[in-house]
Amino acid sequence: MMKTDIKCLITGGAGFIGSHLCDSMISKGYEVYCLDNLSTGDRRNIAHLLSHKNFHFSKLDLTSPLPADFTDNFNKLDFIYHLASPASPPHYQRLAIETLMVNSYGTYQILNLAKKFNSRFLLASTSEVYGDPLVHPQKESYYGNVNPHGVRACYDEAKRFAEAITMEYYRKFRLDARISRIFNTYGPRMSVTDGRVISNFITQALSGKKLTIYGDGMQTRSFSYISDLIDGLIKFMEIPDLQSEVINLGYPEEHTVNEIAHSIQNLTKTKNEIVYLEKKSDDPVRRKPDITKAKKLLNWQPHTGLHHGLLETIAYFQNL
Ligand code: UDP
Repeated sequence: MMKTDIKCLITGGAGFIGSHLCDSMISKGYEVYCLDNLSTGDRRNIAHLLSHKNFHFSKLDLTSPLPADFTDNFNKLDFIYHLASPASPPHYQRLAIETLMVNSYGTYQILNLAKKFNSRFLLASTSEVYGDPLVHPQKESYYGNVNPHGVRACYDEAKRFAEAITMEYYRKFRLDARISRIFNTYGPRMSVTDGRVISNFITQALSGKKLTIYGDGMQTRSFSYISDLIDGLIKFMEIPDLQSEVINLGYPEEHTVNEIAHSIQNLTKTKNEIVYLEKKSDDPVRRKPDITKAKKLLNWQPHTGLHHGLLETIAYFQNL
């Protein structure tokens, strides 16, 4: 077994992305501290890690003050990945106040921890900071088009606040902070109840239900497979001298929701009926990342195309 003395904290570590990050950190020989309140994360995502000597899980809610003795656990913390937040529209709308609080007060608490230990801090931000974008594809320099009081504001504005406070810790305290903007991501360990387009369509196709398209299905998204995203996050954390950088991570190929429905029908060899339901309020019309910056600064680009990624994801859902 590889032995290093790197200690890493992952908030939201029992979630879809967080748990894959925990796996990668453990396989690199790091000591991993995983925090999650399990509101949308799932203990099953980390069950295989719980007995590992380098893995430490605490069920903690970052919207409440951290326990006074929390930092007694560490003598140092090299890397902090801050992912804790509901992330799918049905969940962040159900947990709207919690989403606002974890990204504001929760981020504040984790930034203070990073300051105390002089840790490198990586914020998991989102393509939602661009709102319903008027510029296409989206570059990091675009400020976005966000409805500040609509049904997505609890997530979009919360993440924009998280970006703002992260940058202030960089400016005021020279914290080595970095901001990743994560575009739509899919793969094994997405929750069946996440309510996202890919998990919904696969679950519906495999259980003989109608595929539910919101609106006319002409809206687009760009989907990154989980292993590519994890690779990008780790590069962004581990390459030196990237403090204060904001970098998009996503797959720069655009698909309509209609195309996704048909691909999933083909790959699952099903022909369930498609129903068109009412369009969701403030649903972005188009989304595609410009990843020029990630290519240049991280020497990163995603490799897994939708066909292969969907087959892997369908196989995961079939085995549940
Ligand atoms: N969507 C859909 N049917 C579903 C779930 C989602 O048509 O069962 C649409 C949704 O309205 C949006 C797109 O698929 O236009 C992506 O939705 P998702 O919730 O996966 O991600 P986000 O909107 O956060 O990008």
